[in-house]
Amino acid sequence: SEASAAKASSFLPKKDRYARLTSNENPFGPSASAKKALKAAIDDSFLYPREYRQKLIGLIAEEEGVSEDHILLGAGSSELLHAAARVYGGANGKVLSADPTYTSLVRSAEMMGSEWVKIPLDKNFDHDLATMEYKVKPDISLVYLVNPNNPTGKIMTGEEIISFCNTVSSKVPVFVDEAYWDYMENPKGSTTTACIKNGANVIVARTFSKVHAFAGLRVGYCIAQPEVIEKLTKEGPRNTLSGPSMSAATASLVDYDFIKYSVQMNNEGKSFVYDVLKKTGHDYFPSHTNFILFPIAMDYADFKQKMLDKGVGIKSMNVAGQDYCRVSMGKMEDLEMFADAFQKVIGTTFR
Ligand code: PLP
Repeated sequence: SEASAAKASSFLPKKDRYARLTSNENPFGPSASAKKALKAAIDDSFLYPREYRQKLIGLIAEEEGVSEDHILLGAGSSELLHAAARVYGGANGKVLSADPTYTSLVRSAEMMGSEWVKIPLDKNFDHDLATMEYKVKPDISLVYLVNPNNPTGKIMTGEEIISFCNTVSSKVPVFVDEAYWDYMENPKGSTTTACIKNGANVIVARTFSKVHAFAGLRVGYCIAQPEVIEKLTKEGPRNTLSGPSMSAATASLVDYDFIKYSVQMNNEGKSFVYDVLKKTGHDYFPSHTNFILFPIAMDYADFKQKMLDKGVGIKSMNVAGQDYCRVSMGKMEDLEMFADAFQKVIGTTFR
């Protein structure tokens, strides 16, 4: 009935405006093509979604230039990060990564008894690849890289990361989380799938949650050597994705116009926020993602609460004694709210 449908659908506060700039989502989608495919597949929802899965895996394999046994789907890339933590974490595991970075995989591994070997980012907030390489000893069970990195929005260039992966993966497996890959200026030249094609033990994770705007639909995939895919499958996702979401992903993956549009809207948002930060005398890290990290002169928790009181959700943190705000891009009306709240909270007005 209408009433039971309404019960399931309305969870966002409708009355007061809230700018949700916390979670690096993409408010400009899903694409029209994805929504059309999603709706069309709803009528098939009583069927197990084998055909939808085959179609999506086939298309990813084609796009990436690998055979289908190199691909594993997950309900978001989170499920694949968790599977990797199960395979390479555990009681005797040692997972090496930069710090700060996205911590989902390392936290999962820690929960299973692994040690997290943290290599601090350098003074420019770049990966310290030389130290990371030096610290890779035989007892390291997995190296985890995030490119572009979260929360910094900074990148390792294709050349840097491919060279690192080629060297290090001969000793231990390297997991490269490419969640924000689509936002890079040169995605094809920056992905470490090149290493996989040359036989290296590299695992690349991608997600539809960012540029494709599927955070709620939950579709991700990873690319790895077939024997690694087998191991991850044993410990992880088996038939966890829904037919409609896989159908929508199949449409979105090759909707290049939509990807271009998403990237463009994101760039417009970033220009706007950069401008706000410049006018208020703030430094920032030029971002290769859909969020911007910048230092603030206020306690991070205090700042977050004060922004929230003005209806603006952001993420904040302290790294090595310095407080930072990480603001996700949103629609222009949300970024305007951010700009207004920000000026009030820091007590500087420029308009
Ligand atoms: N990897 C990185 C670097 C992320 O920032 C996120 C989410 O923000 C994820 C993975 C997980 O995303 P999902 O499970 O939606 O694919």
